[in-house]
Amino acid sequence: CSAPLSTDVAVIGAGPVGMFQVFQLGLQGLRSHLIDALPHLGGQCAELYPDKPIYDIPGIPVCTGAELVQRLRQQMAPFAPTLHLGQQVQTLVQEDDGQWLLGTATGTTLRAKAVVIAAGVGSFVPKAVKVDGIDALVGHSVHYHPADLARLPLRGQQVLVHGGDELAVQAAIDALAQAPASVTLMHRREVFSAPEALLAQLQSHQAAGRIRVLAAQPLALQADGTALQALDVSLPDGSPHSLPVQQWLVFQGISPKLGPVADWGLELVKKQLPVDTGTFVTEAPGIYAVGDINHYPGKRKLIVCGFHEATLAAFSIAEYLTDKPVLLQYTTSSSHLQNLLGVA
Ligand code: FAD
Repeated sequence: CSAPLSTDVAVIGAGPVGMFQVFQLGLQGLRSHLIDALPHLGGQCAELYPDKPIYDIPGIPVCTGAELVQRLRQQMAPFAPTLHLGQQVQTLVQEDDGQWLLGTATGTTLRAKAVVIAAGVGSFVPKAVKVDGIDALVGHSVHYHPADLARLPLRGQQVLVHGGDELAVQAAIDALAQAPASVTLMHRREVFSAPEALLAQLQSHQAAGRIRVLAAQPLALQADGTALQALDVSLPDGSPHSLPVQQWLVFQGISPKLGPVADWGLELVKKQLPVDTGTFVTEAPGIYAVGDINHYPGKRKLIVCGFHEATLAAFSIAEYLTDKPVLLQYTTSSSHLQNLLGVA
């Protein structure tokens, strides 16, 4: 493992509230690293409703989830947070000097003077397939929602793409470029939810025999160590079938799971972190919680509430780190803040 990175504040969760948190910390002159399990910014706005309208963001009568994320990205840009995307934070421990050490699933370690948990309703992770023995193959011959097929050892292999949505159909088509021995697209029904143009491409690959489409569900796997050899599946009429497979790409959707936050020794009430409403600190000095993940009397899971929480948390963190009261300044008139924003 390489030496830990260092920062003032680690923000866990790059949803709308985590992104605004980075902005507010920047106004306090604090540097942050922003970490998310998803490979992109925006949390629920980006993952669950990118094209749906939001009507209750102050000053923006209407914008889509994706537009809000784009605006927040622009707003935090002057403070250039270091992004660690596609990385779930798994461990959070306090060091002897009071700083916090975070470890991610991909091996990044980060030392921070304070931590803001903006983990929403949990980290967005791919839905797992329930087949005995699959966990030992992940990263070797089973890949959940792989972002870049070119990095997988697909050449000359029998590739199974498993899923029924646009990502699965696209992956089956993209897999052809990696010179595999064969590509099978498997879904429980022979119906795919993808744009017409993509379905037309699939049909033409299917007609040419380049992609085999199979309606089936997985039952059991056969493997030698971490090398997958075959998958036993059940066909729609219930009959069993054995499919030779060496690389299994799973696209069963992404859903939020509270995950490691529950393992950090912090008190949880109904899967949420209780906080003080003046500072948004949790029971652990130096650890703050904002947005959907926190709990206090009157809490409403709304973006605007998370923005307020992030603002007060930033003031509180600045006071905690300097041990001095922080004076209120306006972005309209403070040359100090305008310098930080790079607009002076
Ligand atoms: P999230 O958006 O949930 O982001 C949290 C992020 O933390 C996620 O990306 C997750 O992957 C990451 N994370 C969690 N744990 C870890 C970990 N251990 N390591 C790494 N990353 C982690 N609100 C409104 O105000 N107005 C609306 O109109 C509105 N419409 C909505 C419509 C729908 C369909 C839904 C589902 C919600 C809507 N909401 C709306 C609610 C709003 O989306 C949430 O309040 C908001 O997203 C909360 O932001 P957040 O940053 O706290 O959490």
